[in-house]
Order: sequence, then C-alpha cells, then structure tokens
Amino acid sequence: MGVTGTKEWKKGIIHNAEIDKYLIDGKDYIDNESIFSALTRQSNPDPHFIRDILQKSLSIKTLAPDETAALLQVKDPELWQEINQTAIAVKKKVYDNRIVFFAPLYCANHCVNNCAYCGFREANNLEVRRILTMEEVKRETTSVLKEGHKRLILVFGEHPSTDVDYMIDCIKAVYSVTDIAPKSGQATNIRRVNINAAPMEMAKLRKLKEAGIGTYQVFQETYHRETFANVHPSHTLKGHYRWRLYALHRAIEAGVDDVAIGALFGLYNWKFEVMGLLHHALDLERQFGIGPHTISFPRMTPALGSWLSNNSEYMVSDDHFKKLVAVLRLSVPTAGMIVTAREKAAIKREVLQLGCTQTDASTRIGIGAYSDQQKDFNEESKQFTIGDPRDLDAVIQEVGKLGYISSFCTAGYRCGRTGETIMGMLSHCEESKFCKLNAVLTYREYLNDYASPATKTIGEELIQKELEEIENSDYFRQKPHLLARFRQDYRSIIDGQRDLYL
Ligand code: SAM
Ligand code: SF4
Repeated sequence: MGVTGTKEWKKGIIHNAEIDKYLIDGKDYIDNESIFSALTRQSNPDPHFIRDILQKSLSIKTLAPDETAALLQVKDPELWQEINQTAIAVKKKVYDNRIVFFAPLYCANHCVNNCAYCGFREANNLEVRRILTMEEVKRETTSVLKEGHKRLILVFGEHPSTDVDYMIDCIKAVYSVTDIAPKSGQATNIRRVNINAAPMEMAKLRKLKEAGIGTYQVFQETYHRETFANVHPSHTLKGHYRWRLYALHRAIEAGVDDVAIGALFGLYNWKFEVMGLLHHALDLERQFGIGPHTISFPRMTPALGSWLSNNSEYMVSDDHFKKLVAVLRLSVPTAGMIVTAREKAAIKREVLQLGCTQTDASTRIGIGAYSDQQKDFNEESKQFTIGDPRDLDAVIQEVGKLGYISSFCTAGYRCGRTGETIMGMLSHCEESKFCKLNAVLTYREYLNDYASPATKTIGEELIQKELEEIENSDYFRQKPHLLARFRQDYRSIIDGQRDLYL
C-alpha cells in the first residue's frame, strides 16, 4: 500500500461512536483529579484500615479506589510484610500453586505509530522491517512447539499490511501446525492463540473471535493523559487516548470476553498507573460484570534508538516493582497477573512468589527469531530488551524447585469457562480446583514429552504431592465423577493420549 493508501486506511480506523457509548454520566472512567485526591486522602493510612482491606481481598473482592490508594501509601515495613503475606494467600486461594506458561510470537514490526519508547516506531530507521509469511509463521510455531509450549500470544505493530485479515491468517497458520514431542513421539500443537494488537473497531474484533482467539490484550501504556500525549504524537493513531481506553470494552461487547489490560511502567508515576489499572478493572466490572482476565505491568526496557527508554525520570525500582505487584494482586484478586521475560530471572522469581500467575519462557522477540536462532539478531534491533532469555525447561525447573506446578492449561476457553462464567468461578475459588486438575494433566504431558532429566525428577515429586492433595481434598471427594474422570485422563496421558482436559 502506498503513502496515499495508508493515509486513507488510517482515516477508517477510529470510530467515535464506539468510544462515547461507554461514557458514564458523560465522563471517562479515568479522572486524574480523583486518582490524585485518593492518593492524597490516603497519604498516611491507619493500620486498622489496612488490615480491613487485607480481609476484603482475602474474601476475593475487587478493592475500591481509596483502598488501593491506602495500600500504595503504606510506609511501615512491617505492614508491608503483612501486605505481601496476604498477596501470597490471595494468589493461593484463587490460583493455587500454578504458574501458566506461554510464548510470544512477533509476527511483524511494521508500524504507523511513533511511540517514544518502542523500537518498532515508524521513524526508527535503524529497525529492519519484516512481515512473516504464513510459511514463516508455521516455522516459528514449530520452533516454539519444540520447546514444549501450548499457548502463544501473537504480537503485531499497527499497519495496513498487518491488519485484521493478516492476523486471522496468522492465527489459522499457528493452529494448523502439528509437531512431534521429542521424548515421547506424541503429536503436539498450539492449543490457544492470544493476540496483542492495537485497538480495533467491533467488526474486526468479531472476526478475531470467529477465528478462535483466546485473550485479546491491549496495554493502555499510561493512564495519565498528559504523559500519554507526550509519548504518542497526536497525529498518530496511537495518539488517540480515548480510542485505546475503551478497546477492551469494545472487545467484550464483540464477544471476546477474555480481555487483558496493562500499563507500561516507567512512563509516569507507578502509583498513578496502579490506580489507573484498578479503575479500568472496575469499569469493565461495572459495565459488563467481567473483570480483566489478566493484568500486565511491563517495566520499560532499553529499545533501539529510544532516548526515553533509557532516560525516563519515572523508571520503577525493584523495590517499587515488588510493591506494585503485591498491591495489584490484592486489588483485583480474580485477575491473572503476567510477569514477562523483560524482567531479569532474579526479580521474576521474587514476583512469581508474590502473586504472579503467568510468565513466558524461551522468549525471542526478533521477527522470525525462533526459527533463525543461528542468525545474528542484533541485540538491539528489537522492540525492547529481554532480561530473562532462559529456555522453558530451565524456568519450569526453577519454579518446580519453588513448589509450583507448571501449567499449559487451555481448557477454560475451550470449555466455555470465559468472561462472566470464569469470573464467578474465580471469585468463589472454584476455578482453581478445575485448573489444578488441568494443570496436573498438562504438567504430566510436559514431563513425559519434553522435560530434561533434572526437571523430570523435580516434577515427579511435585506431581505426586499434587495427586495426593487432590485425592484427599474434600471438594473433589464431593465430586466423585470429576475425580474419576481425572484419574482416567491422568492414566490415559501416561498411556500416550494427549490434550485431555476437564
Ligand atoms: N502495536 C500494538 C500496540 O501498541 O498496542 C502492539 C503492542 S507492542 C508490539 C506490545 C507492547 O510492548 C506495548 O503495548 C508496550 O507496552 C510494550 N513495549 C513497547 N516498548 C517497550 C519497551 N521499550 N520496553 C518494554 N515494553 C515495551
Ligand atoms: Fe507501534 Fe505498538 Fe510499538 Fe507503538 S508500541 S510503535 S504502536 S508496535
């Protein structure tokens, strides 16, 4: 498409009617003043109030803005200990001891936007541009399958050449690939494809739903309007703060009811962004009865040619990062929380124990980088920098040592446990029971199909403990049919069947 064609294409992207319909009393759900005043009101919170808030989180209820603000403003280190302990307890209650694994697949880096922090931005002449062909998408998928992954998130810039039809082709290409697991010779494939892409109109979102996407993820980047305007030039599509603010409202209305929110930490004050994420979750709950499926909180890392990504005055320290993870865990107890390979192994390990539920491993973010591993991908010629390049087996081994089961479960979305259904189950801590069974089944598959001897030794011990817990649990004893089916599926996997889920 030429320059004129691209200009015309851009004109058709934003639909004001698909923004204003979500206003409540004529107002957006983000209001700078109300966030600042909550933080000021709670600048010195009473410890009794904090303990009441912790009890509320433990009863799996989303916090009110003043409650999250109060947690953010705690100064006493001992009270922070209590906050952290409660965050761990909330995670255990809702998600048990599972970590879900996925891999990102970067399909194209063409982009019409100019986000100041991103290597893919249009004005960055140093970035080598590439769009994967469907054959290349399949090759990438095969490489990711060889690691043992079952869940992918496809990532795109915003460009007419990689608009929704290209995305759908990619989704179909990924689902079409079958590979053979190295240790067992069993067939394997990707079972869930999520998307991280620009905000879209509802008609396109419906097409994505039909193509079988799992979660649709859009990060607001920053909820602070002035900062948003500073880092996203106003003449670009991304410069439209409000089109992005309601991207996930549109998605839910279009039927994509697993939606994922996020903020890029380092652009503005971290406490403000946590409040922004909370308001986003509350507005989705208010308008649709569905909270976010996951929350992401990537910290900005150095990107090629981006001055801001190396020099922002708002970079978040490790100490503040851990605090924001604990506060988010408590604020939206039902949401999954994703820590990515942007983080170094050591900090990732800490926040996985503080309430995160998902992470990526064996991550490559160069376009075509999974299958072209020999090729010299210029370390900087990527959208941002990776902090944890370890392969899946190494991370699974590590989390196993910490007592966590690695899950590749994709059952929820395939059994219709999405949106409102899953939210209800999560808040009654019921989903954790189903997921525990599916986590064990998929962990069994991984141990038989891919695990190194050391990972297998750790995994066998862990899985034995899980099986005992399941057999001795009152919940499952009251559901003998479910338990019987689980036992049968577990045996069938050992006998060579795959992709069994409850
Ligand atoms: N183009 C789509 C969009 O902007 O929504 C797709 C997403 S972009 C390829 C994925 C995410 O990477 C962005 O939403 C942003 O939060 C994050 N990102 C961009 N630059 C980054 C950097 N320097 N460090 C860490 N994350 C970054
Ligand atoms: Fe493009 Fe997304 Fe990067 Fe912005 S963050 S330049 S929209 S790829």
